[in-house]
Amino acid sequence: MRPIRRDHAAKTSYDAIVIGAGFSGLYQLHSLRDRLGLSAVVLEAADGVGGTWYWNRYPGARCDSESYTYSYSFSPELEQEWEWSERYPEQPEILRYLNHVADRFDLRRDIRFGTRVVSAAYDQAANRWLVTTQDGAVLTAKFLITAVGCLSSANVPDIPGLADFTGTWIHTGNWPHEGVDFAGKRVGLIGTGSTGIQAAPVIAAAAAQLTVFQRTANYSVPARNAPMSREEWRGIKANYAEHRRTMRSTPNGHGFTIADRSVFDVTPGERAAIYEAAWEKGGLQFRAAFRDLLVDKAANDTAAEFIKAKIREIVKDPATAAMLADIDHPYAAKRPPIDTDYFETFNRGNVTLVDVRAAPIARITAAGVRTEDAEYPLDIIVFATGFDAMTGPLLAMDIRGRDGASLREAWRGGPWSYLGLGVPGFPNLFTITGPGSPSVLCNMPVAIEQHVDWISACIAHMRATGLETVEATPEAADRWGEQVNAAAAATLLPQASSSWYLGANVPGKPRVFMPYAGGMARYRTICEEVAAEGYRGMALGR
Ligand code: NAP
Repeated sequence: MRPIRRDHAAKTSYDAIVIGAGFSGLYQLHSLRDRLGLSAVVLEAADGVGGTWYWNRYPGARCDSESYTYSYSFSPELEQEWEWSERYPEQPEILRYLNHVADRFDLRRDIRFGTRVVSAAYDQAANRWLVTTQDGAVLTAKFLITAVGCLSSANVPDIPGLADFTGTWIHTGNWPHEGVDFAGKRVGLIGTGSTGIQAAPVIAAAAAQLTVFQRTANYSVPARNAPMSREEWRGIKANYAEHRRTMRSTPNGHGFTIADRSVFDVTPGERAAIYEAAWEKGGLQFRAAFRDLLVDKAANDTAAEFIKAKIREIVKDPATAAMLADIDHPYAAKRPPIDTDYFETFNRGNVTLVDVRAAPIARITAAGVRTEDAEYPLDIIVFATGFDAMTGPLLAMDIRGRDGASLREAWRGGPWSYLGLGVPGFPNLFTITGPGSPSVLCNMPVAIEQHVDWISACIAHMRATGLETVEATPEAADRWGEQVNAAAAATLLPQASSSWYLGANVPGKPRVFMPYAGGMARYRTICEEVAAEGYRGMALGR
């Protein structure tokens, strides 16, 4: 029997409103509606599900988590029926997966597409959130759950002259659905983070000319992507429970464990062989070759030197190789990209690397990009310039808690949050993978499922015990902030001074290390203890 469609246009009052229909929002809706029996709606700006995978359709867009780990674990049936075609899933396939999930769990009937939330205000007297959408509709709910993703606010740098450009410019995070025809075109690519590194080889193969504008040189390790066979899938499916246990037990939520050896436990020859094997195997696993790579600079230097030597070996032109290998931060202190033929791309006759640290981009002209020492005529400019990460998507909405206090004001000095889940002064607001949680330092579906499960359990507890409000206390948020800072300080991560982890890529953004770097497994335990101790650090009201 087909479910009766609810008339969204008429209904405005819910138990819970979820913002965003990506990985987080879909599972949150399923949990609230189908497990707890709440009335819930998801408000989604896009015309379809998928979140980051809906918007990031740039050439080469692919996940860097291995496909068998980049999926939901909440449904064993779903696990058994879905097979990814490659070691790393490509954007269209991930979007197909999320559409499949939306259909399989009949989620679409409670998602309002094309509905951008502009503001949300807590009405203390009614204990309701009033959520206003761009078209002026107002919806209310007791619980407001943001599932807006960490990397969904595109950052187009404020370079003078962009409006004068007579060609086409595109940010990778807002890629046109119809695609971009690069044939015969002179393309400029600004940015060499994970996105630029994925896009460059694919654009180079299609365009007449590709000019890559590099401000900060970056490490990258080969992904070694490959098709997956029926046999491999049979093995994975037979052992899914074991794989999930591994993923939940590691600091980063991936399907591999970090080797229990120091860089200095082995001889230089053994170390080189270990790095060589990790390079051949490919992927993010490279950083798990030794346990001290992210905490000891001397240990990290050995990995950094290995990769820099590889770059000099791969790239034939010594000047280009030197530019690519002139990396100013420890390996993996910025999010480490993995690639398919990125460095090899600079051996192509139609690809040029421009060092915009030595000679910064001065302006964009009608004809292309002008740096301080040259002009580059272009037909298309691709901005792979990243995102106003973690706080950006939340602060893009005007969120107001008790007494009309704004989140923007509360976070003026940086995000202030308890566990990255709740904010003092904002009752019944939950932020999935919010700043202060492991989020981007973890394989995202693992972080997302842990948050959704925790939030859902908290709401279930409130309903079972007659509680009306839950709110992080200022003291708990202060203490958690100290733990987030201490966890980051125990690693090399803050040493990458231009990193988006620190908010350093957005002018004027407070420099605060945003994700919790203490590891997903440890974080999970902390969250479990908080719940077991009656939601320690949270004020519960009747
Ligand atoms: P990103 O890591 O922030 O990199 C942005 C790049 O643009 C940097 O090279 C940056 O240089 C450059 N840039 C920014 N403004 C510039 C300017 N005005 N002039 C010149 N260069 C400028 O962004 P991203 O590559 O989009 O990646 C963001 C995150 O998304 C990743 O770290 C990852 O977490 C996620 N992601 C994941 C995948 C995957 O799963 N495979 C793929 C893509 C993205 P500076 O370093 O000098 O600032």
